[in-house]
Amino acid sequence: MTRTIPHTMPRTRGALTPGRPLADLTWLRVGGPAEWLFQPADTDDLAAFLKALPAEMPIFPIGVGSNLIVRDGGLRGVVIRLGRGFNAITVEDGRVRTGAAALDAHVARKAAAAGIDLGFLRTIPGAIGGALRMNAGCYGRYMADVLVEARAVTRAGEVVTLTPGDLDFSYRYSALPDGWVITEAVLQGPSGAPEALEAAMAEQLARRDATQPVRDRTAGSTFRNPAGYSSTGRADDVHDLKAWRVIDAAGMRGARRGGAVMNEMHPNFLTNAGGATAADLEGLGEAVRKRVLQHSGISLEWEIMRVGEPAPDKGKENKE
Ligand SMILES: Cc1cc2nc3c(=O)[nH]c(=O)nc-3n(C[C@H](O)[C@H](O)[C@H](O)COP(=O)(O)OP(=O)(O)OC[C@H]3O[C@@H](n4cnc5c(N)ncnc54)[C@H](O)[C@@H]3O)c2cc1C
Repeated sequence: MTRTIPHTMPRTRGALTPGRPLADLTWLRVGGPAEWLFQPADTDDLAAFLKALPAEMPIFPIGVGSNLIVRDGGLRGVVIRLGRGFNAITVEDGRVRTGAAALDAHVARKAAAAGIDLGFLRTIPGAIGGALRMNAGCYGRYMADVLVEARAVTRAGEVVTLTPGDLDFSYRYSALPDGWVITEAVLQGPSGAPEALEAAMAEQLARRDATQPVRDRTAGSTFRNPAGYSSTGRADDVHDLKAWRVIDAAGMRGARRGGAVMNEMHPNFLTNAGGATAADLEGLGEAVRKRVLQHSGISLEWEIMRVGEPAPDKGKENKE
């Protein structure tokens, strides 16, 4: 059945799709549909759409879904996914101007070719909007270190420029208000010889390949490293604990629930080994948290974002 667009939904030059499944738009390949999926044509289109959208309609921007579990019941409201109109990457005056839909890896390579070191982005599988929102980083460098300014469209449809101070970055966190959509960023980095930058990125890719299940269906690190944890509270008793170690010590490497598994290669990578539901993945993650708490007293914190509604309880529905 084709659904017609109700008169409350604004007109757009982009694509507005009702009931669009989201599983194929996420790395874990799970989750129910978006009530609406909106792919704006460009920034003006996005701003006009948000201005006209009823204020009570929730919106949720997604990048390439590499840090998300979308629950099996899907997401209410409008999921916004930036596409071709937001992909451009240009280099001006030693800085990189990039659309929010550009992949981190493409930005890193284009920057390297122009002699700018944004190499840490080469191995992170997201897009720039998600990288900013999450303050993505690795090998000691984060988006917070390279951002000059960003453009965003507010929930009310206003186009604004944000400074790093506005975003108040910390570990995997930015203060971007809910419902704001990042559309563009200007980044800077140290200069370097393009060949040397390419070589360093190749080495980091090889290191990832050797230590992380980069070809499996995952969303990266499942839990934050409980660094700084101290059993005595004394500064001299701070252990640099790794989440994978405490998961392993609790006997949860390889643990399974339905199609979900704690990866054998790296037990902090929750993996869809085939046929997992979002409930399998989230349920296994919660079981791991519980077991680790019992085993070592450490309360692991999710790094993967879980969004949306659980699947409707069919048994309950039938009884009613
Ligand atoms: C194999 C693997 C390795 C990984 N390694 C790392 C790593 O080393 N370091 C690291 O930091 N992360 C890592 N991650 C996690 C993930 O890649 C990052 O968090 C990434 O920045 C998410 O980007 P995304 O485009 O996929 O965002 P999504 O997962 O789609 O969304 C993440 C968040 O960003 C928001 N968002 C996305 N786009 C926009 C936008 N345009 N405007 C406003 N908000 C937006 C979403 O609403 C959501 O809150 C890894 C993931 C995988 C699968």
